[in-house]
Amino acid sequence: MINIIKSDFTAGAIAAVATPRGAGGIAVIRISGGSAFEVGEKIFRHKNKKYKSFGDIPPNTAVFGDIVGTRRAVSGNTGIIIDEGIIIKFKAPNSYTGEDTVEISCHGGIYITNAVLNSVINAGARLAGPGEFTKTAYINGKITLTGAEAVGRLIAAVSETGARLASAQSKGGLSRKIAEISENIKDIISEVYVFIDYPGEDLTDMTSGVMLEKLIIIKNALESLKQTYNIGRIISDGINCAIIGKPNSGKSTLLNMLSQNDVAIVHDTPGTTRDIVYSRINIGGFVLNLYDTAGIRTSNDEIENIGINKALEKIEECGLIIGVFDMSENFSRDDYNILEILTREKNNGKKIIVILNKCDLDYCRDELCSSAEITQHPRTNAVRPYEFDFDVIPLIISAKNNTVLDSDISAVDAFAEYLEDIYKLDGYDLDSGEILTEERQYFEICAACDNINSAISALENGLTQDMAGLDLELAVKNLERCDSKSVSDDIISKIFKNFCIGK
Ligand code: GDP
Repeated sequence: MINIIKSDFTAGAIAAVATPRGAGGIAVIRISGGSAFEVGEKIFRHKNKKYKSFGDIPPNTAVFGDIVGTRRAVSGNTGIIIDEGIIIKFKAPNSYTGEDTVEISCHGGIYITNAVLNSVINAGARLAGPGEFTKTAYINGKITLTGAEAVGRLIAAVSETGARLASAQSKGGLSRKIAEISENIKDIISEVYVFIDYPGEDLTDMTSGVMLEKLIIIKNALESLKQTYNIGRIISDGINCAIIGKPNSGKSTLLNMLSQNDVAIVHDTPGTTRDIVYSRINIGGFVLNLYDTAGIRTSNDEIENIGINKALEKIEECGLIIGVFDMSENFSRDDYNILEILTREKNNGKKIIVILNKCDLDYCRDELCSSAEITQHPRTNAVRPYEFDFDVIPLIISAKNNTVLDSDISAVDAFAEYLEDIYKLDGYDLDSGEILTEERQYFEICAACDNINSAISALENGLTQDMAGLDLELAVKNLERCDSKSVSDDIISKIFKNFCIGK
């Protein structure tokens, strides 16, 4: 368990570059801790005549001045001006970390930024570890654990939905929801125990029936929260998606079209893609982790078969499978295999998108696709995917031209709409932050739910309210572990180790 000794964190100061490394307009160096102002004073000469000394500069006020170099073993500064910049002081507890903090904005060159940071270190600060500012904020009670995790996701977010959700969580949305459920459980516990402890007093006894009713409401709230984890993971980690189809159906062309980049080799020689080609794209508000796989067919080529096996393994790992069919060709045995795989994966609960590709080729447009009812190839009578009892509406596109059959909308936009439709966010309020995204939280909510269920069973089996109360106490502990300081050091370290330095 973590022991919080505040003075450990307020003594001295930590420092790091808070902006990304590399050449840029400005960089921000952050200093936090009991001696942050002392360090700031050693390296900054303000140019504002209003203030006599560094100490006169009021908090939350941007002040322009010179940033000066300090050398180790030399107390005070050497007087070498490194850069000009802006400094802002934040007085504890009104700062991100809850400690005295100084933020220096200097020019964003790699040399300048390093020189300013070195000067800060020589002036007495120590280099901060990954996530140490946010960890300090958590330890000082400025942010909850779920809020801290959300800050990490907010920085890493590449999609609108991911950023919106993380932002709401970093402001405490999820923590408040969990705390509300926890308070409701505690209310029941205290009512039950008060009556038992003071039976002579005129306190209302909560009947078993009333307690059951209240517990069912809590159980439903926890179940709803549990269910948000699926969408939460999709929003924060992205959707893992395998593109499958027989060779030459246009899988690589589709990958390139969606990525808007030539990520994979496109060629009319069947069996070009053997290794899995990966592309991470932002589409329809989601992050899609796309895997273009080797064309699946019966082959005697040893290397091609290795690629096919990799494709089959990738299908297992993905939650979304895109099946690509070439409309300009007869529906073949290999296409049947793909349909069988799609049907199996759909039955396993996966999401499926069927793409009928190459709709730009003349006879598909004129003969085949003009009727939505058509299930057979007009020339060959080969069975088309429509024939199958497969309640997925196919997207009929030309991946090569980024077009949709009989529509002005681009294939990329149509795909984005399709995606939004199958991963419905309706009913989920992203801006409330009440969506689970971390496995750690999910397991605690599941455990809390199990404990509430045990309490319900206990009452249903005629046990007394105080016996059921024991399970409720366990449920409260689960919920508190989602957010409180009673989590182990291991978990705390794991959460912050993924942060970048400077956050
Ligand atoms: P893969 O083997 O399934 O990855 O297929 P590719 O993407 O490599 O494409 C195979 C061939 O089909 C290439 O010559 C592509 O240019 C062509 N192709 C792919 N999509 C389309 C399309 O929408 N229309 C047309 N006419 N050709 C396409």
